[in-house]
Amino acid sequence: MADHKTGWSLIDNSSEAKLNEISRGYINFLNSVKTEFEAVDYFIERLERKEFSNIENSEKLRPGSKFYLNHMGRTLAAGIIGKKGIDNGLFVIASHIDSPRIDLKPKPVYEDVETNTVLLKTQYYGGVKKYQWVNRSLALHGRVYTKGGREIKLRIGEEPDDPVFVIPDLLPHIADKVQGERKLFEGIKGEEMNAIFGSIPGQTRKDQFKNNVLKILKDRYDIEEEDLASADLYLVPSDKARESGLDASMIGGYGHDDKASSYACFHAFMDIEKPDDTVLVLFYDKEEIGSMGATGSQSNLLEYLVTQVIHKLKGNADHLEVLSLLRKSKVISSDVDAAMDPSFKDAHDTYNAAKLGGGIVITKYTGSGGKFMSSEAPAEFVAYLRNIFEKHKVKYQFGTLGKVDEGGGGTVAQDFARYGMSVIDAGPPVLGMHSPFELVSKVDMWSSYHAYLAFMMH
Ligand code: MN
Ligand code: MN
Repeated sequence: MADHKTGWSLIDNSSEAKLNEISRGYINFLNSVKTEFEAVDYFIERLERKEFSNIENSEKLRPGSKFYLNHMGRTLAAGIIGKKGIDNGLFVIASHIDSPRIDLKPKPVYEDVETNTVLLKTQYYGGVKKYQWVNRSLALHGRVYTKGGREIKLRIGEEPDDPVFVIPDLLPHIADKVQGERKLFEGIKGEEMNAIFGSIPGQTRKDQFKNNVLKILKDRYDIEEEDLASADLYLVPSDKARESGLDASMIGGYGHDDKASSYACFHAFMDIEKPDDTVLVLFYDKEEIGSMGATGSQSNLLEYLVTQVIHKLKGNADHLEVLSLLRKSKVISSDVDAAMDPSFKDAHDTYNAAKLGGGIVITKYTGSGGKFMSSEAPAEFVAYLRNIFEKHKVKYQFGTLGKVDEGGGGTVAQDFARYGMSVIDAGPPVLGMHSPFELVSKVDMWSSYHAYLAFMMH
């Protein structure tokens, strides 16, 4: 990718250089990181290079200490103790590193002798429009845990010589009766999301059809069919992220939700030196399915981490201290918002919708309808953040998710609000969110980086 003179107004030369650096780095990040596992590995490698240490192994923390916490290889926290310690509360930025995708079921492999095919049964993860995921090349990523206790990391479909996998849709010629009357979202049904795994029959007539692919699985990866039940395996788009638009103003790729925020936040965090106040960055798994589970933001990981921090700073930590510290801490829930879709403006309140290229979006509340299930930021905290952004000349905008009666969504914000923390959503706007190839504006990536940096340094 070449460095472009973007022509965006209000951007000086040094910002332009930073914008290009972030865009380049982000494209590389998207191409090496498509799952939460890969994100955690990517972050830890860079944290350790900058002398962050595993908090479980550190005896004591003091101002300037840099630490991280790896939770099950899927969720990660990192922090720097501020020069003033923790007296002013923590400055927290939380994003998520899982993205919508197509998971394999625990018993995925089946054969269909009538059609000469071996297939993989799947279950989609997160809110996807299923019809967008058919007839495109998918890569298989994840971890397999074998009967013998080995961990096997799989990543098939990313190298030019790798095979990819496809969920076939029915040809249009004969689809009229079978699919023509269905509603759009049911064009492809869950049980029709079967990916073709192979099509060479077994060697002998009584051999099962699927034996040939299972033999390849064993020979090439040392995986038995039963091992697939103890695995986290995902089909994700095999496309490479790349510049988009003739003016190269955007980045197209899989997983902007929420890797755009995670990357901007991580990059900003790596760029700060000796903050006044203590900074934490959190990268959660499982947001796309409601943040449930041990690695989701509904777990008590934050409470555990904050207890560790106080304990290692002061020699002990009682529950009151932990809750008091949380209560006076500030959080940006850094998640993407919807950019107004130029062809579907009707779904948005055009007056309150975020625009591509308008800078990081502050979203006061999410939820749906009458603000149901929303974690609304108090106006004082909106003002606080706005003042920081003004002070540091951050390019920002306010936005809501869609028309009041159109639906909605939520983020990890509510899991911080539970502790009485001041929390607000802010992240870059995305076009085509939850699709296999989403769009984000480079200027919004830069603005989000700038915004997270401004918040951490305030
Ligand atoms: Mn998200
Ligand atoms: Mn999402």
